[in-house]
Amino acid sequence: MRLTVVGSSDAFNSAGRSHSSYLVEGDGVGPILVDLGGTGLAALRRLGRSPLEVEALLLTHLHGDHVGGFAFLAIDAMFNEVRRRPLDIVGPRLTEERLDAVLRTAYGAIADRERPFVTTIRELAPEEVLNVSGVRVEAFAADHMDPPDLPLCLRLSANGQTLAFSGDTQVCGGLYAAAEGADLLVAECTALAPPAGRHCTWEDWRCLLDPGFERPIGAKRVLLTHLGRDVRERTEALLSEARALAGAPPLGFADDGLVVEVAS
Ligand SMILES: [Zn+2]
Repeated sequence: MRLTVVGSSDAFNSAGRSHSSYLVEGDGVGPILVDLGGTGLAALRRLGRSPLEVEALLLTHLHGDHVGGFAFLAIDAMFNEVRRRPLDIVGPRLTEERLDAVLRTAYGAIADRERPFVTTIRELAPEEVLNVSGVRVEAFAADHMDPPDLPLCLRLSANGQTLAFSGDTQVCGGLYAAAEGADLLVAECTALAPPAGRHCTWEDWRCLLDPGFERPIGAKRVLLTHLGRDVRERTEALLSEARALAGAPPLGFADDGLVVEVAS
């Protein structure tokens, strides 16, 4: 599988980066978009990619910096680059209701118009598994929102490779489960240190990456994303800190447009 970082910022477009969004593709896989924040369509086009290529949209949770781009994706497919092929959407509980609300808030009655393409929405609960666009998707509970929302950490498997996404979460059992043995973990690091709401910070990652920590993360390689301004400004220093941790998995920081080949 190949990962393309479409957007790597936190909710605030810190350091001028775009909201969370990733393209996953490979032999018989996708292209799948994982999350599509408010600025996601612009970021996709900056990479020279078209939403028409996308077979499926996978959502970790239903905050605007991860799903706000749906309104623009939908009207693009209706009125601009008209979409005829189906679009599979997989997300947590309430995805169907919330995507309708996103489109309706942005474009009113256009939400009721007949679309030239079929949209299939499947809602995935923690511990559930399904197949979409060539990948096996396993969901685990993230710790970021309260019920009725059930945010997810996702684990995608295809072609003998595993690619995990933290979504937005504090350190929790679901994050460990999604990451265990993954060839690449794409994980959020919203700030250098708490308080950062229900998010991971560099203080967490400095521990999780350390094999000497009481419970290190089990991923083989880690790419930190959803970066706040303070993290972005210090990535070189943080990489040095990580390199000093003997036996730590290789670490990188995401940036818009970065392409990573997932190797098993
Ligand atoms: Zn977010």
